[in-house]
Amino acid sequence: MTLAPLRLNKNEDHRLRAGHVWVFSNEVDNRVTPLTQFEPGQPVLIEDASGHALGTGYVNPGTLISVRLVSRDPKYVLDQSLITHRLNIALSLREKLFDKPYYRLAFGDSDALPGLIVDRYGDIVVVQITTAGMERLKNEIVAALEKVIKPRAILWRNDSPSRELEGLNRYVEPALGEVPDMALVEENGAKFEAPLTTGQKTGWFYDQRLNRKRLQHYVRGAKVLDVFSYLGAFGVQAAIAGAESVICVDSSQKSPEWIQRNAELNNVADKVSVQRDDAFEVLRRLRAERQRFDVVILDPPAFIKRKKDIKEGTLAYQRLNQMAMQVLAKDGILVSCSCSYHLHRDSLRDVLLKGSRHLDRFMEIVEEGHQGPDHPVHPAIPETGYLKAFFCRLLPS
Ligand code: SAH
Repeated sequence: MTLAPLRLNKNEDHRLRAGHVWVFSNEVDNRVTPLTQFEPGQPVLIEDASGHALGTGYVNPGTLISVRLVSRDPKYVLDQSLITHRLNIALSLREKLFDKPYYRLAFGDSDALPGLIVDRYGDIVVVQITTAGMERLKNEIVAALEKVIKPRAILWRNDSPSRELEGLNRYVEPALGEVPDMALVEENGAKFEAPLTTGQKTGWFYDQRLNRKRLQHYVRGAKVLDVFSYLGAFGVQAAIAGAESVICVDSSQKSPEWIQRNAELNNVADKVSVQRDDAFEVLRRLRAERQRFDVVILDPPAFIKRKKDIKEGTLAYQRLNQMAMQVLAKDGILVSCSCSYHLHRDSLRDVLLKGSRHLDRFMEIVEEGHQGPDHPVHPAIPETGYLKAFFCRLLPS
């Protein structure tokens, strides 16, 4: 196949050569190759200003990120065979890491599959497409997945808001086979059921796996509060690891039912209870009742989605963490997470330090966690490293 060339402006090849994989719209030479001549998702040959090929990619003329590099070898375009190859490479890492088939199989640019996220629940697979270039390849993705892991069912969970930026509609529908409402997940020796079509994102947050494992060290005999609990992943694992009691907090309508079911699946229903309410409200109430917990976990949704929300979002993290510290026992452990890329690790550390000073408590950071290894970081794309988890101990001053 001959690819349409896409010419970059002078010196705009530097970032690609240095390892990045995106081209922004202002970097394209619109005189030689006007962006408007391309269709959304069209494959292109990316050239520097003097016409040397830099590799292949796909384009979207309507977005700020105009081109995503697919291969530095001009021979390869994104087709079924390249997707199969890259899924196999992604799979080989996951098979090294995990002895059971429950993980994120593909994490977009980090696995050289720009715009494609694949989460695996045994022989059921949930796929999220975020770019027009990948949307054009839906049949190829299904065929490649059938080749690589032979799933029984595949679900398109194509309802993320970011699709609108790419001019894509939002939908959730089966791509192959019969997709059940709930799928089994096994993690750190525990069993869960995750709602695939109606749950958050793709159903389960695999990125927190190692932080949930770390938690085991802190919870024996403890009173635990799991705030923003969703399916009870942290809370139920704490109960299994010997917590005396666990209160899970989440505002979503279904959470009580889901958490209860997951507690039962692991024979810890007698230890786990659920409060369905706004997290800030619950913390305020617990503080007023002078309740204290040995371990508090905060795993909120991203309060900062765009750069312009940094100030307001950081204040929300500040308020939340301070309230959590106020219900911590004398030498309690706070597990404070943030999945907002725009709240950098240093800023979350600062939030925690400020909170501890405000309450006049001595704080030590015992461990720092990040996203699990099935969410690899692309070294040139800082946005691919987004999850922070601080394990802090708060003592009297
Ligand atoms: N801790 C979970 C993931 C949390 S996702 C895990 O380990 O899998 C964030 C959760 O926060 C969602 O379930 C959502 O329903 C809940 N949520 C969002 N805003 C909330 C609020 N203001 N109060 C309580 N829960 C909230």
